Amino acid sequence: MSEELSQMLKNLPLEDQFQAEYVWLDAYFRPRSKGRTLNCKDFSSPPHTSPPSAFPEWNYDGSSTGQAEGHFSEVIIKPCAVYRDPFRGGNNVLVLCDTYWPDGTPHPTNTRYHCQKVMEAAKDLEPWFGVEQEYFLMKISDARPLGFPEGGYPAPQGPYYCGAGAECAFGREIAEAHWRACLYAGLKISGINGEVAPGQWEFQVGPCVGIEEGDSLWMARYILIRVAEAFNVMVNLEPKPVEGDWNGSGCHTNFSTKPMREDGGYKKYILPVMEKLKAKHKEHIIAYGKGNEKRLTGKHETASIDSFLYGTGNRGASVRIGNQTAKDGKGYFEDRRPAANMDPYIVTMLLVSTCCDIPYTAPGVLQNGDK
Ligand code: ADP
Ligand code: MN
Ligand code: MN
Ligand code: MN
Repeated sequence: MSEELSQMLKNLPLEDQFQAEYVWLDAYFRPRSKGRTLNCKDFSSPPHTSPPSAFPEWNYDGSSTGQAEGHFSEVIIKPCAVYRDPFRGGNNVLVLCDTYWPDGTPHPTNTRYHCQKVMEAAKDLEPWFGVEQEYFLMKISDARPLGFPEGGYPAPQGPYYCGAGAECAFGREIAEAHWRACLYAGLKISGINGEVAPGQWEFQVGPCVGIEEGDSLWMARYILIRVAEAFNVMVNLEPKPVEGDWNGSGCHTNFSTKPMREDGGYKKYILPVMEKLKAKHKEHIIAYGKGNEKRLTGKHETASIDSFLYGTGNRGASVRIGNQTAKDGKGYFEDRRPAANMDPYIVTMLLVSTCCDIPYTAPGVLQNGDK
């Protein structure tokens, strides 16, 4: 299609109607989506400022997403967050949903439901998060990162991290387009950077309060997959997609509560929490992403998966407390253990549960040890 025609079709005015793309998570924790036409007259404010409850519930065929048997296949999706649609523009929106059985009980893969309960209980503590999502951009042709020549290898790691130049930065157009698309959508992206391996990038979502972190990170991932699709490139969130002396991808999760951010919070709250995290190390690791043992080797700026180590300014620790936080006597800490493919609903839920002594109910996926 010509550029002109494509632009014209995109900008055709829709007077009384708009397009809503409903997004949800499948059994493999990949986002899925489908679109529906809605009428402006059914909304009392512009669609992107309307609360999720203004949007109708919908359903899909769970037997095609690994979430149901053919004879009982309907899964209900309930809107839980609304964003402007950077792909269609105008009045159009992206609607993030969570999943339920027709009888109203949450689907076993609905981790948001359980996260939300813990976040509700911790509301007065005002939990803040900032997640650093690392990812690889990969070619469709050979499923290897951008910057890896067909059948060969690029120069060893060194110049790529935050690098500039055609020989260092592979896929910058995609990372940049994604950043702007997320800002337009209304997501809090604190920044982006080129990462240590060729074709590897990072964006940060935060600071977000409570359930907003999980919602925002999932929507930011969805938007990334859609932007990369337009460039005919794949997004890879595996913790260690390339064997050998190449960095893996993590999802460092920065966390604080109101008491930690107040004077004296470092000694009174952050340090004692390290002991709690140590005691529950195994429970967290199981839920921090599949295949993470290939990444947490003790090399490439990681700590070994078998031990819990915390330290100030230490990038080889499981949990790093920033030098600024120690100096100020208040602030936040960084859990460096989560893998790039972690579910932020689970990771944020566990952090609040462990650090703030709030029990959680385990979603089916955790009970089955699938995660
Ligand atoms: P790093 O130095 O590890 O690369 P980044 O700058 O990539 O860290 O990411 C830090 C993240 O922490 C950002 O998303 C930021 O919004 C978030 N953050 C900042 N302050 C706090 C806080 N008090 N509590 C939780 N998260 C925070
Ligand atoms: Mn970072
Ligand atoms: Mn990083
Ligand atoms: Mn980090």
